[in-house]
Amino acid sequence: MLRELARGLGTTLKMMFEKPVTIQYPEEKRPVKPRFRGRHVLKRYDNGMEKCIGCALCAAACPADAIFVESAENTDAERYSPGERYASTYEINMLRCIYCGFCEDACPTEAIVLGDNYELSFTDRHQAIYPKEMLLEPVTEGVKPTPQKVEPGVYTRSVPEMKNPQD
Ligand code: SF4
Ligand code: SF4
Repeated sequence: MLRELARGLGTTLKMMFEKPVTIQYPEEKRPVKPRFRGRHVLKRYDNGMEKCIGCALCAAACPADAIFVESAENTDAERYSPGERYASTYEINMLRCIYCGFCEDACPTEAIVLGDNYELSFTDRHQAIYPKEMLLEPVTEGVKPTPQKVEPGVYTRSVPEMKNPQD
């Protein structure tokens, strides 16, 4: 019995001098893997224009029926995105989402991406529905937010022209 006790204490002593594997979350966070799928982000172009064109292909591809999209017409006086339409409403129900990434794959403009944020918490079901205001990334410094007033005839295409379709 004494031998077992000594072995147990020996293990305790040995562990006291090893580097701890625990971290002080939330002050300290472990980096996620490159292909990690966390909370969605609606991306913008460098000029602040929204990439989402309200086509709802992401909603059609979603196996959990977690996405709701409503679109409206862009005008050059009030332009949110290139092309004809933009998402006037964009919601994701995070309680339904299974983080499969199908929405990301279906999007023709690479507007919706699953980011690295895994800190999702809600105290009731309504808070789990993330609206566009929460999902849309903020504009960078010095860039105008949407809607923007633009010159007529500049943003006629919803999907940027590709030099090589294989890209
Ligand atoms: S990650 Fe999957 S389940 Fe979640 S919103 Fe996108 S398509 Fe739907
Ligand atoms: S996120 Fe992409 S697929 Fe979904 S509505 Fe916007 S442009 Fe269409």
